[in-house]
Amino acid sequence: MTSYEEARRIILDKVAPAGIERVLLLDAAGRIIADNFSAPRDMPRWDNSAMDGFAVRSADCSPGTTLKVTDYIPAGVSSDFAVAPGCAARIMTGAPIPPGADAVVPFEETEQSEEEVKLLHPVKKRDHIRFRGEDVACGEPVVAKGILLGPPQVSLLASFAAVLVPVYRRVRVAILSTGDELVELGTEPKESEIVNSNTLALAAAVKLCGAEPVILGIARDNRASHISLLTEGLKADVLITSAGVSAGDRDLVREILAELGVVEQFWKIGIKPGGPTAFGLKGNTPVFSLPGNPVSTMITFEEFVRPALLKMMGHEKVLRRTVRGYLKEDARKKPGKMNFLRVRVTIEDGRYLASTSGDQNTGILKTMLQSNALALLPADRTEFEAGEEVDLHILDPTLEMEA
Ligand code: AMP
Ligand code: MG
Repeated sequence: MTSYEEARRIILDKVAPAGIERVLLLDAAGRIIADNFSAPRDMPRWDNSAMDGFAVRSADCSPGTTLKVTDYIPAGVSSDFAVAPGCAARIMTGAPIPPGADAVVPFEETEQSEEEVKLLHPVKKRDHIRFRGEDVACGEPVVAKGILLGPPQVSLLASFAAVLVPVYRRVRVAILSTGDELVELGTEPKESEIVNSNTLALAAAVKLCGAEPVILGIARDNRASHISLLTEGLKADVLITSAGVSAGDRDLVREILAELGVVEQFWKIGIKPGGPTAFGLKGNTPVFSLPGNPVSTMITFEEFVRPALLKMMGHEKVLRRTVRGYLKEDARKKPGKMNFLRVRVTIEDGRYLASTSGDQNTGILKTMLQSNALALLPADRTEFEAGEEVDLHILDPTLEMEA
């Protein structure tokens, strides 16, 4: 039996970024940039006006001075016409500063008549000018490889006219449920049949990681069905199977994966729920065989598959936030396996408090719905008292520590 920590370490050791593609800038949002981006030119590209006003020669200016207005420079236009001594050019925000001028006087600080402008306040050289390269200088590294692209990065890349951006590829994740008792969503289950909810839960989880689910359907509990669908699944970047991985006499997943060339890295992790999980590799293709119980499927995805998918898509931060928190109630468990307690975390007086979110039996799906975190109860311990400190994996990214 592989320990929880060891299982995670093996998985994260064995998976690597799946590759790079160049995508349109908007499609790059939410992805990880795969190369360093340095500014190909200065930004701004020219000295320009920070205000609507008048471009002036500061040496000519003092309160009460009247200047002759000899030019008009709207945004998007540049003027080669120099501002002569005693003159000013009307200029709009963003327009290039004309030759000769070294300051801008905002409209609000002037009195204007038809062809003249009177200055009301002192003017200093450089006033209200945004200088070439003052935001970003040519060659400056601005977006480092490995950064998650959000609106500020997209804005900056757009400013430099980056049409296509190199990002880590989304991985295609094949999902296969197994079991004779399953029917697909949309078919009314007869007695003793259940709807294949795991495929939907896994596909949803895959999507929320930013990866692409490829739904393979249901493998029946016979060799032929497993062989054909597992073969199909191994064509994707990652294969996830659900059920058929315990020690039942019709649990065929591991046996057939081995026949298809998947080299098992471990089977059975010292955790509850989720113990029968297996992990293998066919070449570089990771194969996660998760237990079929819907709670186990979700928790093992969360703890083992999600970090792997994120790493394959170039993320550097692949684990959920872990915090120390306090149990609100006593808890007990059997020794030997680390337990994931499904909990509801609240924050009180700057402390995370974890309360059990319901029946912890693996068969109780409803408890998942009430949970925003998992509490990790260490393998070697059995009795926990209210008030004890434990590790919490925060599942709800909106749960934040209040100031
Ligand atoms: P197994 O791992 O095959 O022993 O399945 C464990 C439990 O999970 C059984 O109660 C199954 O009916 C249930 N189960 C297996 N596969 C699915 C699935 N795709 N969707 C929902 N429940 C499932
Ligand atoms: Mg089964």
